[in-house]
Amino acid sequence: MKQAKVSGKVRLLGTPAEEGGAGKVKLIDAGALKSTIASLMSHPTPHFPHISADSAGVAFGTTLAAAGFTADFTGKSAHAAQMPWAGVNALDAASLAYQAVGLLRQHIKPTERINIILPEGGTAQNIIPDKARIRFSVRSETLKEMDILRTRVENCMQGAALATGCGVEIASEMVPYAEIRPNETLCTEFARYMSSKGMEYHCDLLKKDLASFSTEMGNVSYEVPSFHGHYFIPTPPGTAMHTDAFRDAAKAEEAHSITMSVSKGMAVTALRVLIEDDFATEAKNNFEKDKNLR
Ligand SMILES: [Zn+2]
Repeated sequence: MKQAKVSGKVRLLGTPAEEGGAGKVKLIDAGALKSTIASLMSHPTPHFPHISADSAGVAFGTTLAAAGFTADFTGKSAHAAQMPWAGVNALDAASLAYQAVGLLRQHIKPTERINIILPEGGTAQNIIPDKARIRFSVRSETLKEMDILRTRVENCMQGAALATGCGVEIASEMVPYAEIRPNETLCTEFARYMSSKGMEYHCDLLKKDLASFSTEMGNVSYEVPSFHGHYFIPTPPGTAMHTDAFRDAAKAEEAHSITMSVSKGMAVTALRVLIEDDFATEAKNNFEKDKNLR
């Protein structure tokens, strides 16, 4: 930029607490995106099974919106053998809620996810548990749809509490992650450059690829025109992201050189935003157009 006298600023932002801590949302709230005109990032992954084998990654894709909650059930303890009738069983409520969500799953969209754990359900088998806790997450294609799903899951918790005579308190456990709104202009340019270097990226503007995981880069894409690529690195068969095997694959020489080429693709895309007003305007217009769909 110095040599070619390109004005503007490129900032490299690392994200603390990326996985689960909504670090990018904290950055947004702290003003990190003020006067930012576009944001780009990429994430390595094993090859997506639904994307053709000769594809290098996904340029135009989205992820699921996600949110996490706790439900605390409160009952009344009693000696489980001497006077079980005097107790109100919080574990019963949590267990019933778990079953209710299991039944609900038949009636949600194939792309939606509900995940539940029961981290607390009593401390002694001879005492009726007066406390039980559920932790659950919901994911949908958009924030809007996720809100509807969340209410349906909460109703399962409320219904189970009513049926067992328990109380229940539901609290948010994380800042909701938005789905990614991929910017057509940025994604197309990235795919064009990578293709010119012999790397074909999936970039179907009529049908964006949906990855069944979530990232707070989605929240960034609600703020500014954004690109979030997924690029494939060689991994042993069956390797999942965020595992020891994936870490080992990611630090290999070949993965590193793929990462460098992806960085160049993002640099070229960002450069066009900086030096071509028409390009930047088109990216901005697509961003506004997409906003109306949400
Ligand atoms: Zn990650």
